[in-house]
Amino acid sequence: MKNEILILPGDGIGPEVINEAVKVIKLLQKNKLINSVIRYAKIGGSAIETLGLPLPNETLNAAKSARAIILGAVGGNKWDKIKEFNKRPEYGLLKLRKSLNFFANLRNTIFYSQILSSPIKSEILSNVNIMIVRELSQGIYFGKPRGIYYNEYGLRYGYNTSCYDEKAIRRIGIIAFELAKKRKKKLCSVDKANVIEVTMLWREIITELSNEYPDVKLSHLYIDNAALQLILTPKQFDVIVTGNMFGDILSDEAANLTGSIGMLPSASINSKGQCLFEPCHGSAPDIANKGIANPIATILSVSMMLHYSLQKPLLSKYLNLAINNVLNKGIRTADINSTGKNLVSTKIMGDVIIEEFKKIIKI
Ligand code: NAD
Repeated sequence: MKNEILILPGDGIGPEVINEAVKVIKLLQKNKLINSVIRYAKIGGSAIETLGLPLPNETLNAAKSARAIILGAVGGNKWDKIKEFNKRPEYGLLKLRKSLNFFANLRNTIFYSQILSSPIKSEILSNVNIMIVRELSQGIYFGKPRGIYYNEYGLRYGYNTSCYDEKAIRRIGIIAFELAKKRKKKLCSVDKANVIEVTMLWREIITELSNEYPDVKLSHLYIDNAALQLILTPKQFDVIVTGNMFGDILSDEAANLTGSIGMLPSASINSKGQCLFEPCHGSAPDIANKGIANPIATILSVSMMLHYSLQKPLLSKYLNLAINNVLNKGIRTADINSTGKNLVSTKIMGDVIIEEFKKIIKI
């Protein structure tokens, strides 16, 4: 693995938000606070336009050898007419995730009390900071057999298989317990072990694993109750671990607690320790090229990279603090703006975060 950060700007607002994130990386490089090298490559629609494929070989090879990858977003109206899925921009990202075997997805939902755009009351949300760890490689999305056929009565019959082997459950469990150990030492595992056998196994393995982490307090919730609790008392959660489908649903629910998708970073991890960091939002064609996108999710993705990939937790903490301070000063992009606040562009938001970060780390 090379000491490289591969930058994949992608499409739509991707290049705009990536520009702001790269400013942070370059600042740290210039001041010798990190020693990784930056390399750029194309993915998605921009790769189709220039190289004919959504994930060209040169991009895939660069990704395979990089320590960390930072991605903007892919997709857009221009490519919506392409019918063959493997020629569409989104296929480039799915192939990248699959080729590098990213099996764990981490989504950190932080509630910023300064932003009043969440549908939930701010007293319920104050101090919410939840890390959702979702298993990505198995579960019902990949299980076989699957399909739709006509049964003996001539009725269409659809079926899927939800399956997990104990190795995959243990592997994601270790990621979650290790994270919980470094946070508030609290882990909630979400399943449906009252009715679904595969999740009975999930609960069994996670409980067995907990013997190796006596300092982490493990609890279990059924998915229906977890979805309810996440809205009622989100503060009770610190790290949540769950399977592929439940993770998909819960992480989107948690995302909406914050009020804007422009504030949410994510990380995907493989067993070699390589990570893909990306904002949770898409390429937002409706606001692309207007200079109004919120770059915070992508800058927070850099913060996750500093913490989990480059082992610089303090720099990550200070970058988060810089973002918090900027929000405290009332500086806002359009998606998080409210009356009396200072509305700024993508670029200005990036610049003020950099200036605040420089002040905090005294450079
Ligand atoms: P989207 O996340 O791009 O946009 C949803 C809404 O959120 C839009 O109104 C958009 O303006 C707004 N928004 C998103 N990010 C924002 C930001 N940083 N600042 C301010 N507002 C922001 O989802 P969509 O509209 O469903 O999809 C648009 C395209 O993106 C599609 O082609 C889709 O396939 C693709 N997509 C890509 C990814 C990815 O690259 N990881 C993820 C989701 C969707």
